[in-house]
Amino acid sequence: MKACRSIDELDSAVADCRACPRLVAWREEAARTKRAAYRDEIYWGRAVPSFGPADARLLIVGLAPAAHGGNRTGRMFTGDRSGDVLFAAMHRAGLASQPDSTGLDDGLHLLGTRITAPVHCAPPDNLPTPDERDRCRHWLITELGLLAPDLRAIVVLGGWGWQALFPALAESGWTVPRPRPRFGHGVRYPLTPALPGRAELTVFGCYHVSQQNTFTGRLTPEMLEAVLVEAKSAAGLG
Ligand code: SF4
Repeated sequence: MKACRSIDELDSAVADCRACPRLVAWREEAARTKRAAYRDEIYWGRAVPSFGPADARLLIVGLAPAAHGGNRTGRMFTGDRSGDVLFAAMHRAGLASQPDSTGLDDGLHLLGTRITAPVHCAPPDNLPTPDERDRCRHWLITELGLLAPDLRAIVVLGGWGWQALFPALAESGWTVPRPRPRFGHGVRYPLTPALPGRAELTVFGCYHVSQQNTFTGRLTPEMLEAVLVEAKSAAGLG
């Protein structure tokens, strides 16, 4: 496996990854068959790199790209309903340059914030297997290491991402308490560094921006924005 010395190198390497046969087949099948509304578009159909600056102080961790969202547009949370909710809230919180995210050429940039996922390929039923999660973990570990000089806060969207993140944090040089912190909406946990070059990190829990949560009111725009504002402050982004 090629070592990535920069976020740019990491993003390129992720986009070329074909390590999970089931997910490669699924993402390419979705790109071939397409959703009717997007039948004239050329789908990305590859692993979706993280999105945001290399010196981000805040990291948002989701689950995996959507077959007709990130897998279509090539950017995390871009072009689907979950992303509509997330980017609108990020814009209100001062973390995104605009509230809309429709495609790679839409002009959106994130402010001090990067969005990643423990699994970079769209999975069937939006659910990767434990093996796929574990196979993808090395990308997250590399990303955490590269972001470490500036990284001060993480918002995790949903319990699945929460479970996936903590082993990566432990391998990336932060002390993870045992038992592991429990996921909940609005929880926050400070983590102390275990390696030189790491700073104290605050990890926030937030319900995922899936339609099951946003359509039912389990996660309201106000609840999401409140977590983002708190994390922005913890990250020293004002
Ligand atoms: S899920 Fe991760 S490890 Fe598997 S093919 Fe996609 S990028 Fe590679």
